[in-house]
Amino acid sequence: MILISACLAGFNVRYDGGNAQNNLAVKLVALGKAITVCPEIMGGLKTPRTPAEIQGGTGDDVLAGRARVVSRDGVDVTKRYLVSAHRVLQIAQNNDVQVAFLKQKSPACGTKLVYDGSFSGRRIPGFGVTAALLHQNGITVFGDEDLTIDTLRPYLDQGTVDLLGNDNLRS
Ligand code: SF4
Repeated sequence: MILISACLAGFNVRYDGGNAQNNLAVKLVALGKAITVCPEIMGGLKTPRTPAEIQGGTGDDVLAGRARVVSRDGVDVTKRYLVSAHRVLQIAQNNDVQVAFLKQKSPACGTKLVYDGSFSGRRIPGFGVTAALLHQNGITVFGDEDLTIDTLRPYLDQGTVDLLGNDNLRS
């Protein structure tokens, strides 16, 4: 099974109430080949919500207790991000997830880049909190920019690959 950020599958769960719909993600869910999670919602945050960033490092540092997640209005939401990361890991393990495609730059889902905690738009290399925990537990983690048929091919049967390439399968 493939794990996907819920906002990529078109669910309106982003901090601003919108989504980041990716047509391949929508098709994977429709075909029963992917499940979705939104760590921020699973941590008890609402939509819309004040955006948060990691301060003092990346997701790996949050897991190690060296950094924290703070909302733009100064509320420490670290515990929510830690609780949801472990919930997502449990779901992934229960569903035999081998690979995840997560939304880039999020403090939970970021896979190569996260914002640096200054709320100035600056980014640093590293995982978000959930992405880091999945990676630490042996799950291959890609960003949404890697969500292509070629990247998916090793994880899917040929019939599904053919369906994903079929433009008549509307999302
Ligand atoms: Fe939720 Fe992750 Fe999308 Fe943020 S990037 S809205 S935490 S699924």
